[in-house]
Amino acid sequence: MPLPLSTKEGHAHWRDLFYDVVQTGLCTGCSGCVVVCPHQVLDYRNLTPVQTLDTADTCVHGEKGCDTCARACPRIGYGAPEVDRLLFGREKQPEELCGIHQEIVFARSREPRVRARTQDGGIASTLAIWALEAGEIDGVLTSSNGAEWHPLDSGAYVATSAEEVLAGGMSRYTYVPTPLPLKQAVKDGYSRLALMAVPCQTEFVRKLMTTKVKKYYSRVALVVGLLCSETFEFEPFITQTMVERRAIDVHNVHKINIKGKVIVYPKDGGDPVAIPLKEVRPMARSHCHHCPDFTAEHADISLGGLGQDGWTLTLIRTEVGRTFWEGLKASGLIEVRPAEEEPEVLDLMRRLAIKSRKRVVEAGDRWYSRPQPLPSELTP
Ligand SMILES: Cc1cc2nc3c(=O)[nH]c(=O)nc-3n(C[C@H](O)[C@H](O)[C@H](O)COP(=O)(O)OP(=O)(O)OC[C@H]3O[C@@H](n4cnc5c(N)ncnc54)[C@H](O)[C@@H]3O)c2cc1C
Repeated sequence: MPLPLSTKEGHAHWRDLFYDVVQTGLCTGCSGCVVVCPHQVLDYRNLTPVQTLDTADTCVHGEKGCDTCARACPRIGYGAPEVDRLLFGREKQPEELCGIHQEIVFARSREPRVRARTQDGGIASTLAIWALEAGEIDGVLTSSNGAEWHPLDSGAYVATSAEEVLAGGMSRYTYVPTPLPLKQAVKDGYSRLALMAVPCQTEFVRKLMTTKVKKYYSRVALVVGLLCSETFEFEPFITQTMVERRAIDVHNVHKINIKGKVIVYPKDGGDPVAIPLKEVRPMARSHCHHCPDFTAEHADISLGGLGQDGWTLTLIRTEVGRTFWEGLKASGLIEVRPAEEEPEVLDLMRRLAIKSRKRVVEAGDRWYSRPQPLPSELTP
């Protein structure tokens, strides 16, 4: 059963988030509850929401009836079928393991200088840059490396120019709360933002749509989802695995990629360092073990690498996604080829989607907040 939005004690609020989501390790750190809290009760520290004004586990406003944080939390009462109906006009079928989509293609930026600063084909960045320059959006909720204390630590921000978007190119496999700047962005008057998001962060926006917290979801014009199996704890993923065990110079890291193993590419053109996935898997964040959504099923457009060298696997899902995609294609900035050219990639995506779905079933998360139809091969 999903965790309900209403409990026996009444509406769900911070108390329920604290005990059922944060304390249980289910909290993804998406920052959604902090963004929407209307009373400045919640703050975000060490990738976790914390109550700052009162005790750790209660909220005086919640006791009086405020449930805004629970309305934003994708781990309480996330109605996946309802979101499907809202976005696609129907619920997905059990065999649609990668979610509902209109089209799947491989795509890449035509510009080698963009590809050099991006993860796969540079589609996330090129889409954002085109949309900004065409006036389709007024900002991009994104992330980049370069915190002063450590070059591989990351932060979230609003990008408003091509250079700021490209500063955030490439993937960070540690968690970055890209929705967090939405709070200030709304105060600053942004009205058509694009959100770069791993699947749990796409769910934050969709949850707001079903619980009708319009103040925030109405400002997000485009949700770009990144395929994701897991994110890792900075300590030990970066500090132990790379720095202590392999003496990798963090100032010399050009890119980190995961394709069957973790590969760290140096800036100086030296040999990449490969790290076995089995070494880092135990360093995955706890909530990732409970996530069934590999392909960001509720994004407008989902993007992944999946063994492709220099191309982004692109799933166009919603009508909003279609409109942005057609605009980007018409700009001439990208080249596109059919995904059917490489059926093994589509098969791999399907198998990874099953793997994510299975870990929820195997963990016994029958109460998990995102009930989903399972094909017969997965039914326990
Ligand atoms: C944590 C993580 C895990 C992933 N796992 C897989 C996987 O298992 N299989 C697969 O096929 N693809 C995976 N991807 C997606 C893949 O790495 C690329 O992001 C995707 O192919 C788009 O490439 P691109 O060149 O078009 O993006 P780019 O143009 O390089 O843009 C990437 C965008 O992603 C944003 N971003 C980077 N890191 C994060 C983060 N941690 N959280 C939120 N936004 C971020 C950047 O700010 C930027 O806007 C993962 C991505 C992330 C962030």
